[in-house]
Amino acid sequence: MARINDNYLKLKAGYLFPEIGRRVTAFSNANPDAKIIRMGIGDVTEPLPPAIIEAMHKAVDEMAKRETFRGYGPEQGYAFLRDAIAKNEYAARNCEVHADEIFVSDGSKCDTGNILDILAPGKENVIAVGDPVYPVYVDTNVMAGHTGQSNAKGEYEGIVYLPMTAENGFKASLPTRKVDVIYLCFPNNPTGAVIDRGALTEWVLYAKENDAIILYDAAYEAYISVDDIPHSIYEIPGAREVAIEFRSCSKNAGFTGTRCAWTVVPKALMGTNEKGEKVELHKLWMRRHTTKFNGVPYIIQRGAEAIYSDQGKQQVADLIAFYMQNAAIIRSTFTSLGMEVYGGIHAPYVWVKTPSAPGSSNRIDSWGMFDKMLRECHVVITPGSGFGASGEGYFRVSAFNSRANVEEAMQRIRTKFQ
Ligand code: PLP
Repeated sequence: MARINDNYLKLKAGYLFPEIGRRVTAFSNANPDAKIIRMGIGDVTEPLPPAIIEAMHKAVDEMAKRETFRGYGPEQGYAFLRDAIAKNEYAARNCEVHADEIFVSDGSKCDTGNILDILAPGKENVIAVGDPVYPVYVDTNVMAGHTGQSNAKGEYEGIVYLPMTAENGFKASLPTRKVDVIYLCFPNNPTGAVIDRGALTEWVLYAKENDAIILYDAAYEAYISVDDIPHSIYEIPGAREVAIEFRSCSKNAGFTGTRCAWTVVPKALMGTNEKGEKVELHKLWMRRHTTKFNGVPYIIQRGAEAIYSDQGKQQVADLIAFYMQNAAIIRSTFTSLGMEVYGGIHAPYVWVKTPSAPGSSNRIDSWGMFDKMLRECHVVITPGSGFGASGEGYFRVSAFNSRANVEEAMQRIRTKFQ
């Protein structure tokens, strides 16, 4: 019989979203007339912008003719898309990122997990994550055998958790011990927090001093609404030598179902081999990507390219403005109810501290709030504790929804919590 990867058995049984799904299904089976509004999972709701649809249609027509048909494309992505990304996302912000350092892929979720293929297996690297955390970073490290077992709080032995709470302004403090790989996610999922230039510079300096690598997930950068917050880690001097950046077309242009993202691995970024010699991570990722991946479909890449046309830029900006208006409505509702509200200004997630239980000075816990919202308002939120121990006592509300749903959900919440 084939031996399995035992690391999978260390994973906690209930990944957050399946558990939410289970509770929602049980509730709706018991209450078939309840109109449930889902403000939990961060999936977009609005259709793809017209400029993107038009580009995809054109690409479909090309596929119908022998002269313009495309088969396998370059694994790294077509040059037309990598050039458009290099110009619009990096050169436009004075970041040095070359088109051949960009790897187009079918998602940042996959890339943040797959990147572990080029790092040492086992426990050689000490991994640090923010807490609360996008669960994919932790689970993929567990699968790769980088951790021990989890404790009662759900924390895995071997991972360094960096608390991000209201008390520290949701900024993970620099680790007090040496770590080798650091996941940073800004704008942050789930807290909606952003990082300023000064704090990000400190991380880059930490990485340089400690020979660490930063895995920078900027899937929500398009939601940053002011100039002085960095959109890319490469806006920080020296970041090319220490950081890999993950970017996605999912949350800006609505590609969650269509799938297109990219990862930047600068040629200046080095790791060490077992002899302690420096090795370019770019070469390893190129090898990994071209061996295990066969490219994002041509039609999708043409759609992604259209994000950077004049019309595409405007339409994507309108889409983001729409979701951010939802976020503003959500923020003002919970604020008016006297709750402590964070995020939702440079991110599509609003992060709220749970209120006290009626007649008690104790706060409702995260899952208690989830159940209360579902039972009393028929609204699904995400319990903060599902993102890590420091998320306990908070809940996340997603701004990805129709305006009608947001307004109705907020109306129900105002009525029940007033
Ligand atoms: N990174 C973060 C922080 C996310 O929240 C998500 C999706 O919710 C992703 C990455 C996934 O992006 P993609 O759709 O490109 O796989």
